[in-house]
Amino acid sequence: MSNWTRNTKKIGELATGHELTIPVYRFAGTDSNAPRVYIQANVHGAEVQGNAVIFQLMKQLEKLELQGDITLVPLANPLGINQKSGEFTLGRFDPITGVNWNREYQDLTPSLSDWFEAHKHLPTEQFIAAYRQSLLNSCHQQLDSPWGVTTGRRLALSLQLMAHEADIVLDLHTGPKSCKHLYCPEYTRDAAGLFSIPCVLMMPNEFGGAMDEAAFYPWWQLTDYVVSRGMTMTPAVEAYTLELGSQERIDMQDAADDCEGILAFLANRGVIKADIEPKAMARYSCALADYRKFHSPMGGLVEYLAAPGTPLSAGEPLVRILRPDRFGESEQQQTLCLPEDSIPVLHFASASVYQGTELYKVMTKYTRLS
Ligand SMILES: [Zn+2]
Repeated sequence: MSNWTRNTKKIGELATGHELTIPVYRFAGTDSNAPRVYIQANVHGAEVQGNAVIFQLMKQLEKLELQGDITLVPLANPLGINQKSGEFTLGRFDPITGVNWNREYQDLTPSLSDWFEAHKHLPTEQFIAAYRQSLLNSCHQQLDSPWGVTTGRRLALSLQLMAHEADIVLDLHTGPKSCKHLYCPEYTRDAAGLFSIPCVLMMPNEFGGAMDEAAFYPWWQLTDYVVSRGMTMTPAVEAYTLELGSQERIDMQDAADDCEGILAFLANRGVIKADIEPKAMARYSCALADYRKFHSPMGGLVEYLAAPGTPLSAGEPLVRILRPDRFGESEQQQTLCLPEDSIPVLHFASASVYQGTELYKVMTKYTRLS
């Protein structure tokens, strides 16, 4: 007998009346006290590799001893995934509103002083369950608003409903042209050494509309409030965004490596019963505030010289910009550098750019983790 089920969840309707649906896989654990996990992939249309990782994970989960329940949602944004133009997939922004699909999630943190006063008498387990229920209720309230809800918000809230049921949330993305990197909340720094991911961005207690933040921020806010009242608490939920290489790419072997990393993390957290060592590799981290964008000082055609994932000293070549319209002048070809030592993490996918295009994102002031 298999240990999983597949359901189809409706997340919207097209003009023709066709339903937008996503597949929801549920693997049942044996221990109701073990952490519950929610994993989704492909909310940005071109970022398909997370689906391959979910596929590899499910192949392993069929064979492994599961303690906690695991819910997996590949192909989480059908509208974005099917938004093709020529040979490329767009699917980063809702085409109607222009909003990034990964900025539609909602901060559902209640008014903490009121909520705390009403619930502080509860024992820890019930206190946590009541807080989770308040997040779920707010989610339902927004979805059921008599004023309706935008297409993008409906998708986000539908996904968020499943995420708030979990103790561990993994949102699988990729960069444009990118090395693997992890967004990790500061309070669970130890997780950075478990995934098969070399570059780690340490996130502060702030909310910007992404899935990982929607999952961890209300719990981090609650924890800080409880601690400010002289009590002890650690956040009951942890959430991460895993950026698994470049967009428009499926690599099953690489997916198997990332599957191992996720299993090492899940084994460490008691979700699966298995002895899986994290991969030995050089890992680097920096604070999110030190993850800097480099914008092109001019328009032109770009040769990307710095390889994502390889440390680059200040003054070493980053990009070369070609301007065929300026042949014979000093602007015909220019090499640009960064003023600080860095690790380039990702660069823009296209070789033609406007002035001001975000060419690279780089880690600065980084430290070695392992
Ligand atoms: Zn993404």
